[in-house]
Amino acid sequence: MSLDNTMKVPFVSFKPLEKELDGDLRVAFERVYENSWYIEGKEDEKFEASFAEYCKSKYCVGVGNGLDALMLALKALGVKEGDEVIVPSNTYIATALAVTYVGATPVFVEPDIRTFNIDPARIEEKITDKTVAIMPVHLYGQACDMDPIMEIAGKHDLYVVEDCAQAHGATYKGRVIGSFGNAAGFSFYPGKNLGALGDAGATVTNDKDLAAKIRALGNYGSDYKYHHIYKGNNSRLDEMQAAFLSAKLPHLDKVNVNRRSIADKYLKGITNPEVILPFVPDYAVPVWHIFGIRCKRRDELEKFLNYRGITTNKHYPIPMHLQECYKDLGYKEGDFPIAEEISTTELSIPMFYGMTDEQIQYVIDTINDFK
Ligand SMILES: *Cc1c(COP(=O)(O)O)cnc(C)c1O
Repeated sequence: MSLDNTMKVPFVSFKPLEKELDGDLRVAFERVYENSWYIEGKEDEKFEASFAEYCKSKYCVGVGNGLDALMLALKALGVKEGDEVIVPSNTYIATALAVTYVGATPVFVEPDIRTFNIDPARIEEKITDKTVAIMPVHLYGQACDMDPIMEIAGKHDLYVVEDCAQAHGATYKGRVIGSFGNAAGFSFYPGKNLGALGDAGATVTNDKDLAAKIRALGNYGSDYKYHHIYKGNNSRLDEMQAAFLSAKLPHLDKVNVNRRSIADKYLKGITNPEVILPFVPDYAVPVWHIFGIRCKRRDELEKFLNYRGITTNKHYPIPMHLQECYKDLGYKEGDFPIAEEISTTELSIPMFYGMTDEQIQYVIDTINDFK
């Protein structure tokens, strides 16, 4: 419910960017349609080459979505039943499900409450002789502290698969994320910083054999037609989405710069003492997929903003270990207090390319008005 005569600020809108790229997107559609070739073709190849370059990685394999990008990377690395994979306790369910789908067990590690990202200091205590990999998630568009994570992985001989679904173009110590580990999974779900006009994803890696295996696994496990070397999946980036993504990729940096300028205004303008603003460590230049504030009276603040026409979201209202689908892991409330604290205090406020100054100021003023 909201007031009638108030400004409306949506949580996200694709319209400002789509208006700018309208011609390019229509041309992309026409090109694929005229060519009449929809799966595994030159659009896919072209996008993969340019996205690999963008991520400073040697190889990019287009897949069906972000979940598959992570799952196929784990599968290609040989992660299997009986293995354990370190996953942050505060993330989207897809990170954990990627582990589950290859038959392995996700082992949760608490985040640093200031950055929301996995706390490297808490990883080693969760490593057992079954642990085979760590999956750092660059949550909300901010890089994890990769140096200590890579050091721990090196010391214990673990794979690292980065979950980059929310962080296209984010940097850690000046280096773009996606090439720190053995492989990285990206999502191009429409709401992500680089979004397709439907589902799409990609895995990037510097390992040629791994890239070939991921490609085969996403194509029924075949290395050439009707010859199947693995029990694969069907998960390919289709030509139409690849063409849309090629039209949008050249604008990604501009989109991220715009998101940063909105975030800067929020960081300077929101002064309500009840609100804890997100913390940006020196090593990170975030791309602000989500701007998450925290507030003890989160649900009241949410109602207050919604009533005044500002749409908000929570990332995420139920932590991984309390999800019904993971009952089998046997966790209970209190097992991951930091993830639980985030789930009850975090509120995501509007953040999208092309927000007007008026909208940004209205969000700031309304949050400051909350008593
Ligand atoms: C969106 C997302 C995914 C999954 O991407 P899909 O394309 O929706 O499958 C994985 N991890 C994180 C952190 C995400 O935000």
